[in-house]
Amino acid sequence: MKNYIFNILKGMLILALFVSVVFSMQKWQRPDLEWKVHSKERPQPEVINPGTQSTQDKVGTAPSDALILFNGSDLSAWKNGKGEEATWKIENGELVIPGGTGSIFTKQSFGDVQFHIEWQAPVPPEGEGQGRGNSGIKFMRMYEVQILDSYDNTTYPDGQAASVYGQYPPLVNASRPPGKWQTYDIIFRRPHFDSDDNVAKPAYITVFHNNVLVQDHVELIGKTGGARSPYQAHPDKLPIMLQDHKNPVRFRNIWVRELE
Ligand code: MG
Repeated sequence: MKNYIFNILKGMLILALFVSVVFSMQKWQRPDLEWKVHSKERPQPEVINPGTQSTQDKVGTAPSDALILFNGSDLSAWKNGKGEEATWKIENGELVIPGGTGSIFTKQSFGDVQFHIEWQAPVPPEGEGQGRGNSGIKFMRMYEVQILDSYDNTTYPDGQAASVYGQYPPLVNASRPPGKWQTYDIIFRRPHFDSDDNVAKPAYITVFHNNVLVQDHVELIGKTGGARSPYQAHPDKLPIMLQDHKNPVRFRNIWVRELE
């Protein structure tokens, strides 16, 4: 009798193992592609001009399908926190934070984007830690990729240059010295909320700092900041913010491509 029960239990265990293996195998399913391999009926990708890369001495150009947010001439794509014209300084085709006039916001709202920006920390470097060359890009006004002079300037890792502020340090510190142009190429994927305002899909960020992968599709846990805050439902598109942290950080060649 004991043996009989033991065999039943053993059988149930094997069955449970089998079921769990089958279920775990089903987690990934090959996408059902509607096109045959090498189908010539498949629509051709749109032809664009990819633009040119910047060098330290010469500013590059945006891809032809990008929306220009700043190309050296004016701030017409931006507004201040009160919805008025942005008043940051433009010097020699570069945008400079005057310090104390407040952050600026794109007039247009965005969700999923590819975002490019070039920035330069002030020379000579002034201040320490978070006080040196601090600015930032906040997607949807609340998900920040940090801008900071992190060249020979130690701070908490989740607040250094190219960190997702308060959540993820960059994989490496790829900073150039102050006075040198640095690039961020960012892919931001917005969070999705269901009809009950719960998170259906979190936000994701990928960042290349000076062409080096430093954030690899990291999953955001909510709004970034000094404290951990859970997601709060918000519209699908919101402005992108450039942060005034009172340090005279310079910018050039800012553009964005909408991904949805
Ligand atoms: Mg910042």
